[in-house]
Amino acid sequence: MKYKTLKGLQDILPAEISVWHHIENRARGIFRNYGYQEIRLPILESTDVFIRSIGETSDIVEKEMYTFQDKGGRSVTLRPEGTASFVRAYVEHHLYNEPAPQKFYYMGPMFRYERPQAFRYRQFYQIGAEAMGIDDTKIDAEIIAMLSNILGSIGLTGLNFEVTSIGCKKCRPDYRTALKSFLGSRLDKFCGDCQRRYDANPLRILDCKVPSCIESRKGSPPVLDHLCGECREHFESLISHLELLEVPHTVNPNLVRGLDYYTKTAFEVSSKNLGSQSAVAAGGRYDSMVDEFGGPPTPGIGFAIGMERIIPLIKDSVGVTAGPDLFFCPLGAAAAEKAFLLTEQLRTEGLWVETNYDGTSLRSQMRKANRISAGNVIVIGDEELKNNKIILKNMTTREETSSALEAKELLNLIIRK
Ligand code: ATP
Ligand code: MG
Repeated sequence: MKYKTLKGLQDILPAEISVWHHIENRARGIFRNYGYQEIRLPILESTDVFIRSIGETSDIVEKEMYTFQDKGGRSVTLRPEGTASFVRAYVEHHLYNEPAPQKFYYMGPMFRYERPQAFRYRQFYQIGAEAMGIDDTKIDAEIIAMLSNILGSIGLTGLNFEVTSIGCKKCRPDYRTALKSFLGSRLDKFCGDCQRRYDANPLRILDCKVPSCIESRKGSPPVLDHLCGECREHFESLISHLELLEVPHTVNPNLVRGLDYYTKTAFEVSSKNLGSQSAVAAGGRYDSMVDEFGGPPTPGIGFAIGMERIIPLIKDSVGVTAGPDLFFCPLGAAAAEKAFLLTEQLRTEGLWVETNYDGTSLRSQMRKANRISAGNVIVIGDEELKNNKIILKNMTTREETSSALEAKELLNLIIRK
């Protein structure tokens, strides 16, 4: 029987891993400068965690969740995103008791049962950040600046940062009325899902991906024109702080997010080089979610970067991992034993060393040393064993140095180079 990965899932092979490490390391470095600490959350949560926050009428909850019953009959879901799980943990562990802002980041897989296509998978990885406890738009501008720094330091260019405000509970009723009166006259042009959403959650119609719905909603009133006084002031202050920090951005009044929990600030970063799945990162404020999860009213803001969307944009510019520092080519059983022992001794001293395990010819061992990009090679035959002397060959410069067949001397020699 032949097994294959499930549709929409993929293996990440060692040949690709240097790009993943590059991104993760750069992100960690920048998170540190901004005071974000890592939090690791379970992949599986109670289904309610997501329904409650992302929203019953969102695409994610309606169509995309991997939900099943565990052996105890509980409904559980593979997390489709990180923020809902994070807020569950934030409330559960009373993290709001720490001085604000509390800042967190996470990295890990998310699961959405979507139609797989280029840059859209059923298991995909996100790097996310959440800043809690601060209402002031300095934190909004700061987190967007941090995101811009992370993406820049990874090596991405040609990005477009779009920002908007999607209002709060206070401005939503007014906006809902304006939107419904626009959509009502042309409802027959929308898909069945949207017709259902019209009463349940008309804002979701703005996020529908069906081409005829995209066409039919053109000209709909933007939320940005229907903000309450507080939200308008908040948005203006956001823009002035983005300008102060010189974060390039464009205001897109038609930007909508696929999750119900957002309030006020919302943003999305897209790349010109990705075709239709162009969003590489997105985020926003969620000022009511902690409260709804049973914690004290606490504002929050966060974002998530889609790893699979940024990897193709940089993978050609990130160097591949170098090979071992040293490769032993032993000829004969006694030499192989000696090389085996030295390999272990040098590894414990901090070098990456490989040896040959079987009795293949010198030619094939040298070919292997080249194939794995070994930095140095040592051939050990009977003569070398008898005299306890070897030649260390640097594979890049072709320079040859003689040395005793002894771990300490070899170590010094290789580290000095
Ligand atoms: P899209 O509009 O592309 O479906 P989204 O609004 O559903 O994106 P978010 O929930 O905001 O996405 O997730 C943040 C980021 O995670 C996205 O900008 C994208 O880079 C990435 N992402 C989301 N869904 C997928 C997926 N199925 N496969 C790969 N990356 C994804
Ligand atoms: Mg989506």
